[in-house]
Amino acid sequence: MQPTKYIWLNGTFVAWDEAKIHVLVHSLHYGSGVFEGIRLYDTKKGPAIFQLDKHLDRMYYGARCIDMKVPWSQEDFKQAILETVRRNEVKSSYIRPIFYYGYAELRVDPSTCPVEGAIAVWPWGAYLGDEAINVIVSDIIRIHPKSTFADAKITGHYVNSMLAGFAVRKGNYQEALLLDYQGNIAEGPGENFFLVIGKTILTPPLKSILAGITRASILELAKDLGYEVKEEAMSLNDALQADECFFTGTAAEVTAIKAINDTPMKNQNGPVTAHLRGEFRKIINAENPKYEKWLTFVV
Ligand code: PMP
Repeated sequence: MQPTKYIWLNGTFVAWDEAKIHVLVHSLHYGSGVFEGIRLYDTKKGPAIFQLDKHLDRMYYGARCIDMKVPWSQEDFKQAILETVRRNEVKSSYIRPIFYYGYAELRVDPSTCPVEGAIAVWPWGAYLGDEAINVIVSDIIRIHPKSTFADAKITGHYVNSMLAGFAVRKGNYQEALLLDYQGNIAEGPGENFFLVIGKTILTPPLKSILAGITRASILELAKDLGYEVKEEAMSLNDALQADECFFTGTAAEVTAIKAINDTPMKNQNGPVTAHLRGEFRKIINAENPKYEKWLTFVV
């Protein structure tokens, strides 16, 4: 991570190294925060944030899930994000806003704790390559939808992602794949999962998975491009027999899957994945006016 000058902390800008919190903040102990991972792209028409309003909607939804009363309106917080980008003069970068319960009592019930927030940005290179990746199914399953609000981006959920991600250490794998409590495919530790059969694109329903912003964008884009899209449960066997599989995410964008558990896919970097990846890149480079509504230009 390459530090930038300022971090927005509870309404004021502080120097990067000064953005500190007490060790007894509630969220550190109980995973009771909500955050986002957002990208700023250096487009042909200037720096632009991808799907900023959608990310903010998800963040404020997550805050409601954990009964967090955020002291900043969504519009004010959006302006704070834009100002953080401007002050740090970044172009291609990653944006990390977070709300957390601060320091007061250390009971599990957070109601006495102040709600605090921070926004950091740091440079993050343009695209990943077009390389397809090897995936391993982890023994750790995705969090149960009745144990939490699985579609929200709550900090504590990431222990599940971290543990699942350790599976890649077993061999030549680049990412893990989590099944859900019913044995169906859920998602990656930081990506949503898709498979392709002919001209049909399928992805697991919003039940135990994070409601990915890239996932929703790709579903809309694919439909517009004439593909049939379906949100339905799928088994590991369905994936292994599909024509193509790919991941989506803020970091992954659209990444083809080469093999799952060492079984090669029929098409290891197939034409539909490549088509969607190409169209997605045009959008994030502000080369497709139809989808400019997905970009917030930072002026
Ligand atoms: N699933 C999980 C568990 C994630 O952490 C992410 C990354 N936010 C995704 C899916 C992809 O979501 P998005 O497209 O919003 O980045």
